[in-house]
Amino acid sequence: MDLTLWFDAALLPDGWARDVRITVSHGRIGSVTAGVGRSPTDAGGGVAVPGMTNVHSHAFQRAMAGLTEARGPSNDDFWTWRELMYRFLDRGGPDEIEAITALAFAEMLEGGFTRVTEFHYLHNDPKGVAYADRSEISGRIAAAAQASGIALTLLPVFYAHAGFGAQTPAQGQRRFITDLDGFADLVGACRRLTANMPDASVGVAPHSLRAVSAEELAILPGLAQGGPIHIHVAEQTKEVEDCLAWSGARPVEWLLDHAPVDARWCLIHATHVTETEWRGVAARGAVVGLCPITEANLGDGVFPAAAYMRAGGRFGIGTDSNVQIGLAEELRMLEYSQRLTLRGRAVMADAQRSTGRALFDHALAGGAQAGGVAGGLAVGQAADIVSLDTRRFAFAGRSGDAVLDSWLFGAPTGSIASVWRAGREVVREGRHLDRDALEARCRAALKVVLA
Ligand SMILES: [Zn+2]
Repeated sequence: MDLTLWFDAALLPDGWARDVRITVSHGRIGSVTAGVGRSPTDAGGGVAVPGMTNVHSHAFQRAMAGLTEARGPSNDDFWTWRELMYRFLDRGGPDEIEAITALAFAEMLEGGFTRVTEFHYLHNDPKGVAYADRSEISGRIAAAAQASGIALTLLPVFYAHAGFGAQTPAQGQRRFITDLDGFADLVGACRRLTANMPDASVGVAPHSLRAVSAEELAILPGLAQGGPIHIHVAEQTKEVEDCLAWSGARPVEWLLDHAPVDARWCLIHATHVTETEWRGVAARGAVVGLCPITEANLGDGVFPAAAYMRAGGRFGIGTDSNVQIGLAEELRMLEYSQRLTLRGRAVMADAQRSTGRALFDHALAGGAQAGGVAGGLAVGQAADIVSLDTRRFAFAGRSGDAVLDSWLFGAPTGSIASVWRAGREVVREGRHLDRDALEARCRAALKVVLA
């Protein structure tokens, strides 16, 4: 037996249980027993919930958080973001990308995510030339995952065009571009890179309908070999207008009509959808990858999550630009964006479950599906466990779903006590155990990137 944990309460697949002992063997849950007293050798404490999958991240963008909040000339509100992105693309080499990514991954663990789905599109060097080893940056992402301890779903991104109708790529996109043969090699390399990483999975990500032609999109799903397939779609209204001009159809409508969208697929954002479109996504069993904080930060719009969920639609939560990293913050933003739109309260709750519980359950199930893995506090699953610091006043007198509601809506940031990933404690007292070293490395990288 590697480790024995005990919690006042735990959220198990069939609901809450009290006085729960979880044994861990070789990184997996060996047993779950409720209604037992704590023994002096048990670690743990507080309330345990399953570790969550972050369904969408571009980890390097963490370096730009807080630096893109000014307006540029001529009312161009993307100006500061784009300027900084270009500076990063000019200066960020493999060492810098790895350092920034490792700290972002550690922060995800601190925020309650035990798996990251990295949507990875920096394939070429700053001049736009493929690295001698095509999987150079993919390897750095895998190394960052190992340094932080987070589980990795690696999604190499296929990116070939500047706009709908296979437009020639622009100079600013030089680091992203691959052809189909090169991309197939990259996917194979990603499988080899992650072969020895516990619980890693690999899929493919056609970047968007702007960056991938219809002919290419017909080929890419086959490269996933049953793994997840993620695509950005319908994030902003201009994309909808451009897609209509190109094809006569809206982006999600076009995708459902032309791609084999099913439960392997995760549609990132899908912000601007008609009811016919979101009902179509729900019927296919695909996941919508919502990134509420990034979508708010970029002013994208609001996905009709409440209606979609009531129709049986599945969603997961992603941190995308990583402007802020935290599961509770993402779920709160999701709920509040729905309330502001619908002018109602508790809109994601259902007859059986409170708002926090319904949000958590949906994001957990959708996240596992989009990551191409199983999950939850059950025998045989990876021991990915998050404990809430119920010594905090925000949890006083709370039990059951009220613990989740108080975490999401009432508790201060930092209410996570410990996080175990594959049975190894990686966060304690809310702080990643290697945070100091990872932070020092990232500070050095920022000096290069932001110089
Ligand atoms: Zn994205």
